[in-house]
Amino acid sequence: MRTAGGIKAAEGIAIGRIRICRASVCDIDDSLTEDTAAELARFEQARIRVQEQQRVLYERARQSAGEESAAIFEAHELMLDDEDLVEACTEIILKQRHRAGYAVQEAFDNAAQMFRDMEDPYFQARSADVVDLKNAMLDVLLGRDTDNEQGTEPFILVAEDLTPSETVKLDKSLLLGFVTREGSASSHTAILARSMNLPALIQCRDISEDWDGKFAILDGYNACLYIEPTQDLVESFTGRRSRDLEKEALLRQLMGASSTTMDGRSVRVFANIGGPDDVDAVLANDAEGVGLFRSEFVYLNSRTDPTEDQQFEAYKRVLKTLAPRQVIIRTCDIGADKTIGYMNLDREENPALGYRAIRICLTRRDFFRRQLRALLRASAFGRLGIMFPMIISLREVRECREILEECRRELEGDGVKISPFEVGIMIETPAAALCADELAEEVDFFSLGTNDLTQYTCAIDRQNAKLEPFSDPHHPAVLRLIRMTVEAARRHNIWVGICGELGADTSLTETFLRMGVDELSVNPGSVLPLRRIIRSLDLSRPVGQALIQEE
Ligand code: PEP
Ligand code: MG
Repeated sequence: MRTAGGIKAAEGIAIGRIRICRASVCDIDDSLTEDTAAELARFEQARIRVQEQQRVLYERARQSAGEESAAIFEAHELMLDDEDLVEACTEIILKQRHRAGYAVQEAFDNAAQMFRDMEDPYFQARSADVVDLKNAMLDVLLGRDTDNEQGTEPFILVAEDLTPSETVKLDKSLLLGFVTREGSASSHTAILARSMNLPALIQCRDISEDWDGKFAILDGYNACLYIEPTQDLVESFTGRRSRDLEKEALLRQLMGASSTTMDGRSVRVFANIGGPDDVDAVLANDAEGVGLFRSEFVYLNSRTDPTEDQQFEAYKRVLKTLAPRQVIIRTCDIGADKTIGYMNLDREENPALGYRAIRICLTRRDFFRRQLRALLRASAFGRLGIMFPMIISLREVRECREILEECRRELEGDGVKISPFEVGIMIETPAAALCADELAEEVDFFSLGTNDLTQYTCAIDRQNAKLEPFSDPHHPAVLRLIRMTVEAARRHNIWVGICGELGADTSLTETFLRMGVDELSVNPGSVLPLRRIIRSLDLSRPVGQALIQEE
């Protein structure tokens, strides 16, 4: 038995034979030509043909992996219209008198190198997309058959790297998992693997040609590949795999089911996300909406302050993909543990109690207005909720709403369409929970941020691991503040949800439901387990063990 490691790109277990996918070797004709017009025409035909192929791939990916995963093929289609790229190819043909294949290889390789040289890992990963397009163009120009020979036996695919279109072309019914020498966790291949629910291992440096056809186990949980494993290991992983499958199958039965208790109380089970790429997980886990889009990740993922247009595109993508589901986007919650270089924030003695979140937005109005305008513009593409974090007072909420109104008037004056949206606040400070009655007059909903609410109520820094023995996530003071908030929301006829980690704590689900919580927003992987618990509860029966003592 041999073992090989790497970096985990997607979890799960695969057991089967390895198939090595060899990169196709290209014979590019580098001789010069007199008939540059004919070569230019060949280039144009290939470009149009590949754009058609990308549209087909888009459709196929949309059906198998969802809109978000398919978006890359739409981007590929646009990339082929890129003026710089087309001009570079045209110049090589017309000025240097090279043939179309050579021009494509040169120009696309240069563009891929340019992406590779960028510092941002997101852009580095885009070089694989350019190489993917180059190969597709060369396939057409060289008349190569691009459909993979796949046989009938399921296999673990091992490759140097996989481009997104190669990934989608593979017959999913035969594919058990991926192992690649290259790749990054943010590459589209890794994203597709996760949305296809297959284990994937990347950066596996020990790949060897002689693995082809050998029996193997891919342990996606521990980023390990066992080649020709012992019988004991096969038995142990087979057991683990069947337990995973049983669990998954049970949960999958709940896809499309309602999150309703036995006595008919419906709860909305939403997901928390950090950016547009997480939409795949929302759909794959059948979340009924997004209860918390931590928009600061859009800022953290950018090396410069994102423009209004860049933000608009990110919000629009999420809203459009998930429509008609509601998507609650929290305005930038920067500061404390989330610092950004370009914001030039001072170092502080007590950052968690410092200049952060709404406090920054209300003092840096231009920064705040850019985000609000982007959100309002995006409202036309789905069902938006806007949520303000770290609120402690009525004055803050009123100020936020005034600025939002100003932005709305400006945009409407310019003829921009704005669709109806809800406005809410996070209840994550004891001050907000204690003033919930007054705050409820001003907003459409509350969302309890129990992570910060616990930190501020118990004076336990959530970043400090030494305080673990002192922390109690079920502290009665926190539960009491949650109850007060829910009751205030009920009195004022607004809905109330929980988007902190406590929302996924199934030992408290009954308690929250009995309190009157309307929505629970959790990490996407917790959606179906939570739905299972909700469906098993009967709130018409006497209070169960799960209810807190004071009940
Ligand atoms: C919270 O505080 O509970 C919350 C959801 O926000 P974050 O964890 O992003 O601070
Ligand atoms: Mg918080």
